[in-house]
Amino acid sequence: MNLADAKSAIKFAKVLRRDAQGRIISIEVPGHEGKTYEVILRHEQGGLTTECLLSTGNGYLPCQGNGHALCYHSLSAILFAASEKQISVKVCQTKAATKIKNVYDEAWVFPIRSRQSGKEAYVVMEVSE
Ligand SMILES: [Zn+2]
Repeated sequence: MNLADAKSAIKFAKVLRRDAQGRIISIEVPGHEGKTYEVILRHEQGGLTTECLLSTGNGYLPCQGNGHALCYHSLSAILFAASEKQISVKVCQTKAATKIKNVYDEAWVFPIRSRQSGKEAYVVMEVSE
């Protein structure tokens, strides 16, 4: 899980599509070597899933990183969506790790999962009151 890369990609990310409620459906995220990726977010499987596609000159290829893990483009898309709503989040690799970081209720923890590899991470939402 490369959080540093995910965080640095946020400032160059841009929203491609939104649903009727204004939620982000797809977002363009820059990758290494000048590549760009489209990350599609879906509310399903009790959390959020990510599908990541490498944009090529003539179409899309599945992101290799998201094919065996949860790629940093996916993480970047999640962090972008949260920051847009001014929600502060932490990403944890395991559910057990969320217990340490999460001082709030279990309800504020939800899984994010690569739709391509099935690999998960967990997002802990911080509530500022
Ligand atoms: Zn990716």
